[in-house]
Amino acid sequence: MNTTTAVPAKRLQSTVLGYPRIGPNRELKRALEAHWSGRLDADGLEAAAASVRAGMLDDLAVLDTVPTGTFSLYDHVLDTVVAVDALASRHRRETALASYFAAARGDDAAVPLEMTKWFDTNYHYLVPEIGPGTAFNAKPDKAIAEFLEARERGLDARPVLLGPVSFLLLAKPDADAPADFRPLDRLGDLVEVYVEILTALGRAGAGLVQLDEPALCADRTPEELASVGAAYRRLVGAAALVVAGGYGPFGEALPVLLDAGAEGVALDLVRGRSDLEVIEALDVSRETSLFAGVVDGRNIWRADLAEAAADIERLQRISDRVGVASSSSLLHVPVDLDAETDLPAALTERLAFARQKLREITALADPDGPREARPAAPGAWRDEAVRARLDALEPDADRRVPYAERRAAQAGRVPLPLLPTTTIGSFPQTAELRNARAAHRRGLMIDADYGARMRAEVAAVIAEQERLGLDVLVHGEPERNDMVQYFAEQLTGFATTAAGWVQSYGSRCVRPPVLFGDVARTGPMTVEWTSYAQSLTEKPVKGMLTGPVTILAWSFVRDDQPLADTADQVALALREEVADLEAAGTAIIQVDEPALRELLPVRGAARGAYRDWATRAFRLVTAGVGPATAIHTHLCYSEFGEVIDAIAALDADVTSIEASRSKMEVLADLDRARYRSAVGPGVWDIHSPRVPAVGDMAEALRLAVAALGPERVWVNPDCGLKTRRYEEVRPSLANLVAAAGLVREQLV
Ligand code: GLN
Ligand code: ZN
Repeated sequence: MNTTTAVPAKRLQSTVLGYPRIGPNRELKRALEAHWSGRLDADGLEAAAASVRAGMLDDLAVLDTVPTGTFSLYDHVLDTVVAVDALASRHRRETALASYFAAARGDDAAVPLEMTKWFDTNYHYLVPEIGPGTAFNAKPDKAIAEFLEARERGLDARPVLLGPVSFLLLAKPDADAPADFRPLDRLGDLVEVYVEILTALGRAGAGLVQLDEPALCADRTPEELASVGAAYRRLVGAAALVVAGGYGPFGEALPVLLDAGAEGVALDLVRGRSDLEVIEALDVSRETSLFAGVVDGRNIWRADLAEAAADIERLQRISDRVGVASSSSLLHVPVDLDAETDLPAALTERLAFARQKLREITALADPDGPREARPAAPGAWRDEAVRARLDALEPDADRRVPYAERRAAQAGRVPLPLLPTTTIGSFPQTAELRNARAAHRRGLMIDADYGARMRAEVAAVIAEQERLGLDVLVHGEPERNDMVQYFAEQLTGFATTAAGWVQSYGSRCVRPPVLFGDVARTGPMTVEWTSYAQSLTEKPVKGMLTGPVTILAWSFVRDDQPLADTADQVALALREEVADLEAAGTAIIQVDEPALRELLPVRGAARGAYRDWATRAFRLVTAGVGPATAIHTHLCYSEFGEVIDAIAALDADVTSIEASRSKMEVLADLDRARYRSAVGPGVWDIHSPRVPAVGDMAEALRLAVAALGPERVWVNPDCGLKTRRYEEVRPSLANLVAAAGLVREQLV
């Protein structure tokens, strides 16, 4: 054999870690909703699902190996619950499909599984309930069927499963579990069931299997890592495994996985590039499969092929088995950029949705493929005026006078009773409002008519609140399609897509705007609505804005500068809006930050920097107002955990939070975080159609008063009312006002 002549560079294996599964035109969404409403039977649903899966395989066929099993009727974590046969008995129904949807959505007989955010994304998964008594059994049917579907087309198929460690780390203890039980305690039992599933897949012809362990992209204790090692030493006996993370670096988990005998790892080289150094420092066998996740699965910008190729080369110096892959599943990006015919060419040229990313990956796998660096953003996307305004801000532009001073000034400006009542902002988005918006968008309703329709709604919402006797009113947000898109449509530097849908949970999809350039406000965005509402009443009307962190979290954000810099630009635009609201006489301005926790980095080491820029951006928005103008904020949840210090640092005058389900326990947490201003702990769980009783809400308020003192408590629902119906909203708010009155009376 002649080893001295240069061998031609060989083709690398191309693959992705997962693919969008709702269909390019949300076909699965429509089929699911038809099924749930009784218009489509189980066979019809399965036919629609099969056609979505076929479409996925049509797309994926350009790759050397294709992931299978990443399709889901609702959620891949719920699929895993089914695969290990761990459905709670309350969700078991006559058919597998009925059981599945009972767990996903609940029914008359049972509440569904809890839903929560998937790492630092806007995808929501269903939380498995695991206890000491949960029985596990192998149910590999779905995994095998989808594997065979791909094989029958002659594709090199790689089954994908959520790994057992992440499955248990994402689970919560079931209702019967003792207090000291952790789901991870069951790892040994669960691994045996995974061994059976892997063996069954092997019998069906599977070679390499991908186990997703995204929980290993978070900080893990030495004990947890030891369990990972033990689990994988057992699992690798059943199949050749490639372990994927997808949500940042594996870090210290990397040697654990490789030492345990994993065939390979899929590295996230977009958010987890530090793994390159980690793996270079390890003594890795040249036989190790390394998937170079160089194409961003989380964002829609074209890859820098030169940079990607350089990273791939670094891995080739370590191993002979390097493949080219996406950094995570492509679940988080829309399917096809070609559907976007209205975007400017300069933008389209720079974007890649799922189908375009497949082409980037195959290009990188081809030794003769293109390797061009990504061109810089066009100069026209830069706004020197914005940059100059930001540079000119005083160093303490994000500081207000101390809370005590503000409190006195605000009480002087707007006298309010103890326990003031208010709502979070939106009122029901009726079918009629949605129809009007659709007609307006399609050009079937002229601006003047649409404006008149919205103003009539604002007037009705104000009248409703006056009748109910609320203290601080809202305009009801009828004009907002979505709390982020509404602002994105009015700011420069943003574009909105026609069909850029991304699954949020189950059949629900969102269409995040694209933040591509410097952001500026071209004029007031909300002042007209707030001022109009204020003109109709003597009571104070709150101004209502979405905060900078939430706007970034729910958009596809440019990746050519630090998020912190982009946040400052958005904050500056909102700061100008706040100034205009204040100048128009608005005494209370609410800036919603429901996504404050979502963007929190998965790794602890990155969190301090995040808290700094996130709170700075919020305070940039709000700190320009005088002491007599009250700043409110709203967060949609009560499990603050790691963001609790950030909440205090926002320095709002009033923070409304979800609290009705947690029985006000969160107030003690806020206190521990040295949060000293006022709180509106939600007393009405708006996620339920139930009308809350006066007595229950009064009881919750008494707990809040006991924890905070009467001066610091506001009375409000858990969240906005846009998804509720007036039939529930009217009696619920009447009860809320009555409860506040009752507790107030007992205080004097
Ligand atoms: N102001 C918004 C509303 O009431 C807040 C929504 C949210 O918290 N997600 O709808
Ligand atoms: Zn909310």
